[in-house]
Amino acid sequence: MTQCARWHRLPLDLAREAGSKAPGGHLDRAVRCHLSTHEGDEHYGFLTELDAYGTALWLRWCGRDKVEVVTLPDCPALSTGRDRDGCCLFAGHIQQHTWEGSREVASRTS
Ligand SMILES: [Zn+2]
Ligand SMILES: [Zn+2]
Repeated sequence: MTQCARWHRLPLDLAREAGSKAPGGHLDRAVRCHLSTHEGDEHYGFLTELDAYGTALWLRWCGRDKVEVVTLPDCPALSTGRDRDGCCLFAGHIQQHTWEGSREVASRTS
């Protein structure tokens, strides 16, 4: 997959909010959209894992001004290849799973 090239900085107030939800979690000052290249203006950048299993904090932004911190469950999809890679995105995301792409095509020859 080709990853979306959009970045967004983490605003200070949202960094505080994320920090209170995930104490001890490492937060980057800017995040890149984790989706593969997509239509539309809504982007999702991964912030940090949460203690609760299978959930993570994401920065969701739409255009320049609409930005928020959201808690989302992990995408449950596993690749069909031998490695059974997990998807690094959230449940219900648009576009491809993170393991889709070149490797998947290569393993389809069996
Ligand atoms: Zn994006
Ligand atoms: Zn997925």
